[in-house]
Amino acid sequence: MKHITAITEMQEFCRSLRREGKTIGFVPTMGFLHDGHLSLMRTARAENDVAVASIFVNPTQFGPNEDLDRYPRDAEGDAMKCAAAGVDVLFLPATAEMYAGAPAVFVTVEKLSEVLEGAIRPGHFRGVATVVTKLFNIVQPNRAYFGQKDYQQCAVIRRMAAGLNMGVDIRALPTMRESDGLAMSSRNVYLDPEQRRKATCLYRALSAAAELVRAGVHEPEKVRQKMRAVLLAEKGVEIDYAEIVDPDTLVPLDRMQDRMVLLVATRVGSTRLIDNLLVL
Ligand code: AMP
Repeated sequence: MKHITAITEMQEFCRSLRREGKTIGFVPTMGFLHDGHLSLMRTARAENDVAVASIFVNPTQFGPNEDLDRYPRDAEGDAMKCAAAGVDVLFLPATAEMYAGAPAVFVTVEKLSEVLEGAIRPGHFRGVATVVTKLFNIVQPNRAYFGQKDYQQCAVIRRMAAGLNMGVDIRALPTMRESDGLAMSSRNVYLDPEQRRKATCLYRALSAAAELVRAGVHEPEKVRQKMRAVLLAEKGVEIDYAEIVDPDTLVPLDRMQDRMVLLVATRVGSTRLIDNLLVL
C-alpha cells in the first residue's frame, strides 16, 4: 500500500491512473477505523481498479465545543487495517496543507444541511461538503463510498455531487453494527461500560419504531413517541431528536408513506451518538 501526504502528489498519481483508463474507488474517513469503514474499503476494492482511502480529521466540520481535540487517532493500526482491506493508496493530508491560510471558499448545500444534524450542529455540513469537494478534486474518483450510518451526510453529498456535476458516483453502504445492534462508530470508544450498555437504546428505539410501522400504525407522532419512550427509559440519555422523515427531502412526516427513514440523535453522557433505519 502506497502512503501519500502531499496534495500535488496525490493529484498527479490519480491523474496518471485515470489516463491509463483505471477506475478509482474512494473512501474518505476520519480514521480510528472499524468494520464499518473497512466494509466501504473492501467494496471500493472490489468495484474498481484502484482503491484509495483518506484519513483526515477535518476541523471545519467540528463546532467550537465539539470533540476535535480529543477525536481518537491510531495512525499505525489504521494503516494496517487499510492494507488488509485491500486499499492501494492511503492519502493522509496535513491540516496545514488542506487549509492553508484562512479558508475563504466553502460549499453549502441548502435545505438538506439545515435540518436534524444541521440544526444541532450549525456549519457541520458546510465543513463536510467543503472537505469532500476538496478530496474529490484531489483524488478525482469514479466512485465514492459512504456509510448509511450517516444518513443525512449521504443525502447532502449526493445532492452536492449532482448539483455541482461532479461526475462521481456516490454509493451508500449499509450500517455495520456490533452484535447487540449498536452502530459502529469511532466515538463509541468514549463510552464507559455502563454508557456502552445504555447506548444500545438507539437501535432498540429504531427497531421498536420500525415494528410499529410494520404493524400498520397510522400516525407518525406515535412512532416518534415510541422512539422517545425507549430512549428516555435509559437514565442519562438525552435526546437531540427522534424523527420520522421523508428519505429524500428529510422533511418530517405528518402522514405515513411508502418509504420513510427513522433517525435518532442522543447524548450518552458527553458522547453524541446517531443512528437511523430506513423503513420501506
Ligand atoms: P468517519 O470516519 O466517521 O467520518 O466515517 C467515514 C465513513 O465511514 C462515512 O462515510 C461513514 O458514514 C462511514 N461509517 C461510519 N460508521 C459506519 C458504520 N457503522 N457502518 C458503515 N459505515 C460507517
